[in-house]
Amino acid sequence: MPDIALLGFILAAIVIGYFLGWRDQKRRRIDSSGQLSKDYFVGLNYLINEQTDEAIDVFIKALDINNDTVDTYLALGSLFSKRGEVEKSIRVHQDLLARPSLTSTQSFQVQLALALNYSSAGLLDRAESILIDLSRQNHELRDQALQQLLRVYEQEREWAKAVDVAERLRRTRGDQYAIILAHYYCEQCQIALNQNDRVAARRLIRQAFSRDKNSVRASLLLGQMEFDEGDHREAIKVLQRISLQDISFMPLSLPLLEKSFEHTGSLRGLGAYLDRCLNERPGTAITIAMTRLLIRESRESQAIDFLTAQLDCHPTLRGLNELIGLRRQFQGDLPDNILGLIHRLTNRILEFKPVFSCGRCGFSGKEMHWQCPRCHHWGTVKPIQGFEGE
Ligand SMILES: [Zn+2]
Repeated sequence: MPDIALLGFILAAIVIGYFLGWRDQKRRRIDSSGQLSKDYFVGLNYLINEQTDEAIDVFIKALDINNDTVDTYLALGSLFSKRGEVEKSIRVHQDLLARPSLTSTQSFQVQLALALNYSSAGLLDRAESILIDLSRQNHELRDQALQQLLRVYEQEREWAKAVDVAERLRRTRGDQYAIILAHYYCEQCQIALNQNDRVAARRLIRQAFSRDKNSVRASLLLGQMEFDEGDHREAIKVLQRISLQDISFMPLSLPLLEKSFEHTGSLRGLGAYLDRCLNERPGTAITIAMTRLLIRESRESQAIDFLTAQLDCHPTLRGLNELIGLRRQFQGDLPDNILGLIHRLTNRILEFKPVFSCGRCGFSGKEMHWQCPRCHHWGTVKPIQGFEGE
């Protein structure tokens, strides 16, 4: 309902804007004024009856679009788009574009809005062609066109084209696009790996690091490549770098790191590394990895003591779940049925808990996304911290 009120407000603004413009030029318009005001009342009548389609038709046909009303029409188009009424929004913008009186900035703005309409309607080719055209113009709003074009290429997963556009934006906007570029190179690297093109994959990893030397994702990809090619020591070296790049992503590297250390037969090295990471930032994944390492060395009671101590100062659901499992397995010093019940419960809770969340928009889910599916930012989705997370 507030949308209807806002819509009414916007249409009223269009009408007022029209009459202000009209008053200044009424000498020239006197002949058609009777017709215009009749249309205005017809439109108003439609609006009162919430027949917005008809109301827009009448208003757009009847009212002059002048410099006072273009912004209001743009607001109207954006309101329709927000309400999910993309077709109406497209019509408003197309009608605006057909007016010869637009200034170059107004025309640019309307085309941007129209491209956004096409994108949200899934007509990506149309959006792309408008945006390419706009991005070639030497206009102060050109970066906005490039940013929208980037979103189109991301939706199409056209990473090479996205790289070209992001490189242009990096020149004017700097670092934030360097980080995005590293993700684009990683996307391309993943495709190369799927096609078993290891030469291209390595080149793309180098390009990712050249844009963002702290790219955790590039380190994970490179670590996996070294592992697959049998160079476990190099894999360890690459994966350990992640704790320096962004330690909150470190849990992602653990499964591969554990396997790599296993291959080299140096579990002591793994212990030392986990110890260093725990000192820097206590976390459940690292604690559990350490606990399992102790159990592998047949030091069960030490493992349970260690886990209990960690949980004392850093309690997490997942840690508790692990502890209960270990006590049942190795000590069984609580009635088994109660432990079993608690264990089933914690398992069940964990089953439905999101594991990753976006620091920007709050999106959460069980799968890792390098690009947040909701706000589309890159590298903002991370393992959840706190009692229910890491
Ligand atoms: Zn997000």
